[in-house]
Amino acid sequence: MSTERVKDFIETLVGNPEKKISLHKQFNSPFQFFSSDDIEMLHAMMYNTKCSGSGGSGWDTVDKGESKFSDRTQAKTCQDCKTKMIFYHEDVCSECGSTNLKYPKDSRWGISSESHLKYFDELAGYRVALLEPETYSSDCRKFRLRSWFIETKNEYLTTYMKYQFDSPKSNHVNFMPLQRDFYRSSPCLHLDAWISLDGNHEIVYYDVENKTPEVVPEKYAKFTTEEIMRKKNFGKNRGITSRN
Ligand SMILES: [Zn+2]
Repeated sequence: MSTERVKDFIETLVGNPEKKISLHKQFNSPFQFFSSDDIEMLHAMMYNTKCSGSGGSGWDTVDKGESKFSDRTQAKTCQDCKTKMIFYHEDVCSECGSTNLKYPKDSRWGISSESHLKYFDELAGYRVALLEPETYSSDCRKFRLRSWFIETKNEYLTTYMKYQFDSPKSNHVNFMPLQRDFYRSSPCLHLDAWISLDGNHEIVYYDVENKTPEVVPEKYAKFTTEEIMRKKNFGKNRGITSRN
């Protein structure tokens, strides 16, 4: 499958969103140029399959893959009056005029530990996509879209799912991109693209056969899986804070 096809696909999805951005800015309504459905469709194209035809039930794609999307063009918050403004809003608070605004960088992929364990033998793996702005500022018009593949039977991921499932807390795992759980789950990069809202998109890397996981940064390489799990707060030791 060619790089050109991915580029065309992105071009079609993104289009020319400036008019939309301006409308969303006017009403402070969240704007994302990719929806989760768009990313499922992108994955369907990348992995030569189709989507399920309806949201909310069954597999994300016919080949029993699970698509996840995390978008870092999140709303920012005024640190002085707590007003929330969409990513593209000017970097001045609309209510109090403060320039002390905070862009969060904490969007995650939600994974159900129950589904992971229940469909362990069927699930064709996780396709996890992350969209990040080049700069955290309202005039940013260039974004990096990456997508990785994580095997269902990855040992670290499965251990994490078991711990979460057995915990008194919810079965839901909030999986943080680019941190310890991510790197320890052996994600293999399948797509790396730069998206420019002026239409100049660039596919930097595209290989859905890549089986070489991302190198684990040194700070995340310490400790065994069990040691990491024991340190996590799964609701058993309420007084202990766990940070990934
Ligand atoms: Zn304010």
